[in-house]
Amino acid sequence: MKEIIHKAAEIFHQANYAIAFTGAGISVESGIPPFRGEGGLWSDYDPMILDLSRYHYASHESWPVIKRLFFDFFGSAKPNSAHQVLAGWESKGIIKTVITQNIDNLHQEAGSKNVLEYHGNSRQFVCMSCGKITPVNALKLKNTPPTCPFCGKLLKPDFIFFGESIPEPAGSRSIEEAIQADVFLVVGTSGEIIPASYIPYEAKKNGAKIIEINTEESQFTHSISDIFLQGKAGEILPEINHILNQKL
Ligand code: NAD
Repeated sequence: MKEIIHKAAEIFHQANYAIAFTGAGISVESGIPPFRGEGGLWSDYDPMILDLSRYHYASHESWPVIKRLFFDFFGSAKPNSAHQVLAGWESKGIIKTVITQNIDNLHQEAGSKNVLEYHGNSRQFVCMSCGKITPVNALKLKNTPPTCPFCGKLLKPDFIFFGESIPEPAGSRSIEEAIQADVFLVVGTSGEIIPASYIPYEAKKNGAKIIEINTEESQFTHSISDIFLQGKAGEILPEINHILNQKL
């Protein structure tokens, strides 16, 4: 393992345009479970809470669970050492951008500036009627569905529900970044969510070296990963960082 960590550090050291692509696994050490697998959120909660039409017609049922899960619970989580390493790498120019599937804002809280939120975010709400945006901190979230301060109609968190398309410009910019990358780091994602899972393949097709960190093998491990570092993101990233710091 030591040897591949050194190899990964050397690849980052040589990189011209490195990008990180993250999923729910990077936030597990911050106390946020992933959706799937053992202990995953969907073993305790019904995924239908994120069904768009159901939210539209039965928001009084979906909203209290969405609030508890994505605002009361996610809202209290803090960035971990994996988020912090990536933020530090951006400030040193080691990586250019973080493309994240997460909606928990932890990359930004750790200090990352160039973050593409492929599935949207939980910092703001969008009105399902007039389309205006309202930041979460301008609202007092209660157990009754939130309403738009401009038109009084139903607000929806600004992350994508099942059946919604990828927000722009994050969607196209993510592909552009993947195409430009010569090193593409994949952290804590199973690769089971389409179209997000196409992004690392796009990077590979355009010649990027794929470095993957995951506690388990993923869809990427045996298909495109050049280096697979098996373990926790919050342990492996600081180890790479330690070696990289000695090279800088
Ligand atoms: P996923 O749930 O499908 O997979 C999570 C992956 O993380 C798994 O492959 C698992 O082995 C790995 N993992 C678990 N702990 C890890 C650790 N400590 N270090 C490294 N890897 C670890 O997640 P996904 O691929 O991101 O897709 C699920 C979708 O749900 C995405 O859109 C995701 O962003 C969203 N989601 C977001 C959050 C969040 O914002 N924190 C939480 C749950 C789900």
